[in-house]
Amino acid sequence: MDLNYRINRDVTCIANSEIETNKIISEKRQCNLNVNVIKYKREVTKQKRISGEAYIGYRRCGKIVDHNTMRSKRIMKETCSSKKCQNLKNRFCQNFDEKLRRDIFKKFWSTTTWEEKKTFVISMVANTPRKSDTTGLGDESRRSNTFIYFLNHTNTERLQVCKIMFLNTLGLNEWMVRNWIKK
Ligand SMILES: [Zn+2]
Repeated sequence: MDLNYRINRDVTCIANSEIETNKIISEKRQCNLNVNVIKYKREVTKQKRISGEAYIGYRRCGKIVDHNTMRSKRIMKETCSSKKCQNLKNRFCQNFDEKLRRDIFKKFWSTTTWEEKKTFVISMVANTPRKSDTTGLGDESRRSNTFIYFLNHTNTERLQVCKIMFLNTLGLNEWMVRNWIKK
């Protein structure tokens, strides 16, 4: 009697633990599925951002990360219309017509990694220390650099353009480029 009771109790215990285990497995599966969906969404967002397409961005609000911020697609902005550039001997903004600019823009955004874009930007910006220390303090930390920007005019020739022309043609903002070219 006592033995039967114990066996029954053990069987019930095993059955209950199996139900519990199955529940955990099923919850784990659901969890894995959710994780995979989140990973997939992140990957899609990442790829869209890299290729300059519109995407839904993430925004952190305290501990909560919302995935609901619409980011518009990258666009090529207007060409340089600076009178200064037209008069300077070393500025060739006017040599780039809209078709050429669009080709440069498309090529830049067709690269599939940020690393490639960064490498391209670094190769197109020359960093030269300013000739004179304008602060007159000889202070190393205050010494600034001058950046010179280029765009490919042909496959073999690149021409100097102004910063606005460079940023507008590639559809980039200044902080992004600064971030890439700083040592
Ligand atoms: Zn210009």
